[in-house]
Amino acid sequence: MTYKRSDGREADETRKIRAEVGVVPRADGSALFAFGDTIAIAAVYGPKPLHPQHLQNPEKGLLRCYYDMMSFSVGERKRPGPSRRSSEISFVTTNALMPALQLGNFPGTVVDVCISILQANAGTRCAGINAASMALAHAGISMSDLVTAVSVGQIDGQIAVDLTKEEEDYESGGEKTTDIPISFLPLSGKISLLQLDGGIKAEKLKEAIEIAQKTCSKIYEEQKKALKNIISRKEEKIKE
Ligand code: ADP
Repeated sequence: MTYKRSDGREADETRKIRAEVGVVPRADGSALFAFGDTIAIAAVYGPKPLHPQHLQNPEKGLLRCYYDMMSFSVGERKRPGPSRRSSEISFVTTNALMPALQLGNFPGTVVDVCISILQANAGTRCAGINAASMALAHAGISMSDLVTAVSVGQIDGQIAVDLTKEEEDYESGGEKTTDIPISFLPLSGKISLLQLDGGIKAEKLKEAIEIAQKTCSKIYEEQKKALKNIISRKEEKIKE
């Protein structure tokens, strides 16, 4: 391999992970998830009655995800408001989370998930999905699993996890980095998101999925630790 990661990480090493639950006091559930300087906050509101009423499904609740990157999240001020990119990420995030949710327990309702990216240095959709799945669990939405995401990439022929913006933009001899955000339901091992930006050979894609799954099991442990922390904090408060 000719490519050396500028922050000295191993190929299977993520940036420093930060996972916290209960960061937005007024939301029904909330969480922060960071891969180094990529920081996402998710706030969950609901389940609440869906309006207008004719959109209500008497059999199950509706999940709505809103992804938004703050103007101050990148070096140059990002134009505020929705864009094609934010609509696409909101859509894939909803689809990535849906298989873990048991919305049949909440007929006629809607669950809104607002994901705000405070700092962006690539991997924001994955950080957002990780934060959102913790926030949904914190809100007490019935779930069969958490959802855990990471981006994997092929940089100069080498598979590496959790790419930075510099790594995503790297180009060598006309070969661009391939970026593959992936999410798993860790208990079942099912993939709920797999996007591919660039080209990759089948055997390399297999390697990328395997390394992503191993990384996601580590991230899953961090998500569970953060959720357990909030439960023990609540128990301590009850005892006081
Ligand atoms: P992801 O953040 O999930 O990797 P993209 O591949 O679309 O999604 O974006 C990669 C990175 O590009 C973002 O994390 C961010 O650092 C940067 N970026 C995206 N949109 C903008 C923008 N409008 N202005 C500045 N930087 C941006």
